[in-house]
Amino acid sequence: MAHPIHQPLDVILSTLDFDELVGLAQSLVQIPSVSGREGLAISQFMVDWLRRHGVEADLQEISPERANVFARVEGNRPGPRLLLNGHLDTKPGDTMTIAPYSGEVRDGRLWGRGSCDMKGPVAAMMVATAALAQHKDLFSGTLLFGSEVGEDGGGWKFEELVAGPCQCDLGICGEPTNLAVHVGCRGSFPLKIRTLGLATHTGTAYEGINAIQKMCSVIPVLYALPCFHQEDPIWGRPPINAMIIRGGGKVSASVPDECEVQFDIRLNPTLPPERLAGLVDATLANLQQADPELKLEVLTDWKANGRHYHSLPASEISPTHPLVTTVVDALTPILGQRPKLAGFPGGCSASIMLRRGIPALIFGPGDLHQAHSVDEWLDLEQLRIGCRGYVAIALRLLSVPTFAGSEPA
Ligand SMILES: [Zn+2]
Repeated sequence: MAHPIHQPLDVILSTLDFDELVGLAQSLVQIPSVSGREGLAISQFMVDWLRRHGVEADLQEISPERANVFARVEGNRPGPRLLLNGHLDTKPGDTMTIAPYSGEVRDGRLWGRGSCDMKGPVAAMMVATAALAQHKDLFSGTLLFGSEVGEDGGGWKFEELVAGPCQCDLGICGEPTNLAVHVGCRGSFPLKIRTLGLATHTGTAYEGINAIQKMCSVIPVLYALPCFHQEDPIWGRPPINAMIIRGGGKVSASVPDECEVQFDIRLNPTLPPERLAGLVDATLANLQQADPELKLEVLTDWKANGRHYHSLPASEISPTHPLVTTVVDALTPILGQRPKLAGFPGGCSASIMLRRGIPALIFGPGDLHQAHSVDEWLDLEQLRIGCRGYVAIALRLLSVPTFAGSEPA
C-alpha cells in the first residue's frame, strides 16, 4: 500500500495523459511565435486549451498583436501563491537545418523551434496546472501559470505578468535545466576595451604604435585572472569570452591606431560586478605601468542598437532555502534520485523574481544546449518527467506548512 503522504500526489499523477502532453507541445511548436512578432494565435490557443481543461485563463494584452497568457487555480484553503512560468516566444526559425514548425515526433524527440526553449516545458506546466485544477481539494493557496512574450528579444514582458495577474509568493521558471534544480542565474559584465596606437606607413612600422599588437597583451592577462579559474561546486567557473574584435583597415599599408575588443563575461554570485571592475582596473593599470606606450579606453556601460549594456550581479537563492529543499524533496521520488543543483548560465524570469524578493528557482525538461540550435529538439522522456515534476513541486509547495501556513505577502 502506498504511504498515505504520497496518496494525493499519486492520485493526480495517475490522471496525467502523456499523449496529450506531447500533442500539446507539438501544437505549440506548430504555431510560430518569434520574439517581438509573436502574433495572437499562440496566446489564444493557450488560453482556449486551459479553459477547455477547466482552468480560469485569460490574455494580458501587450499590443494588438502580442499578449501574455495567465491562469489561476485556487486551492481549498488560503495559502501562498505559486507561479509556474515560461515564455511563449522563440528565436527565429529561418536558420534551422530542420523544418522549424513541423513539430515532428521522431526517435523519442520533439523537433522544431521552441521545442526545448521552451514550448515543451510550457506544455508540461499547462498539463500540470490542468491536472491540479481537477483536484483543488488537495492543496491550499493559489497555483498560477503565466507565459509571456518577448523573452528572446523584442521587449520582454515578464514584469507585466509578475506585477499584474501573476503576483506571487514563490516562483518556478521552467527553462530547460536537464531536470536539475538551478538556484539562480548568472550575472553579466559587458566590457569593451580599446587600445589606441599611432598610425604610420607600414614601411616604417617600427616608428608607429600598433593598436592590434597592444591588444594582444591585454586579452591574455584578463583570461588569466584567477577569478575566472575558480570552480564553484554549484556554479562552475565564471566564463570570460572575447566576443568581438575590430581594428585596423582604415588605411591600407598603415599601422592600425585603434583596436577594440568586446568581452561578454558572466558572473557567479561570488564575483560581483564591482569586484570584477576593480580587478580589471588593477590589471590594466599594472600592464600600463610595464608598458608606457599602452593607451587604453575601458567601457563597462554603453548603449548600442537600442540596447543598454551594463553589468548585472548574479541572482541566487540559497541552496538551504526552504523553497529549494522542498522542491528537491518533491522531485527526488519523481527522478529516482536527488536532483543535481546548479546555476542557470544566463538570465531568465527567476532572476527578475529574485530581484523582486520572490523566492524562485529554475527547473525544466530539456538541455539548454538545444535551445537556439539549428536542429532544436526535446527529449520526450524528459518532457514526461518534467510534467510529473511540476505536479509534485506544486502539490508539495502548496501543502507543506512552511509555505501553506504563510499568508500571502
Ligand atoms: Zn528560454
